[in-house]
Amino acid sequence: MAEDSLKPGCVLCRATDEDIIVQNDKWRIIFVDDVHYPGFCRVIWKKHIREMTDLSLEDRQVLMQAVWHVETALRKVMQPDKINIASLGNQVSHLHWHIIPRFNDDVHFPDPIWAAAKRSAKADRLDSRKSLLPELRKTIIALCQNSY
Ligand SMILES: [Zn+2]
Repeated sequence: MAEDSLKPGCVLCRATDEDIIVQNDKWRIIFVDDVHYPGFCRVIWKKHIREMTDLSLEDRQVLMQAVWHVETALRKVMQPDKINIASLGNQVSHLHWHIIPRFNDDVHFPDPIWAAAKRSAKADRLDSRKSLLPELRKTIIALCQNSY
């Protein structure tokens, strides 16, 4: 990545402790380390870009295709009750998308995961979802390798 496409001090330009599932020269897909949301993935554009409309039409398509691959893999492997997709960037204004598998027994459902918790976590349900992560990783990689 060229130095002039990165921003000094940005935690997404120079992340070091990420669990990267798959990446190419434009984006990377990572597992988000969230105890309540196994399978929570983030697609991060590698250059320091603020908004979707700062990208060319072609690159918007490239980025969203990665998001759709994650959604497809999450549906197939984890069979959530709903997928939440969000692009906020208020805290880190470096373009990224959150893709979150939601279940009607998760701690925030039906509210967004950033809202106040509605119930406590069910450890057995979380454990069974965590056990799916190797298969989820393989499925995301396979989808991305077949087309991006
Ligand atoms: Zn950045």
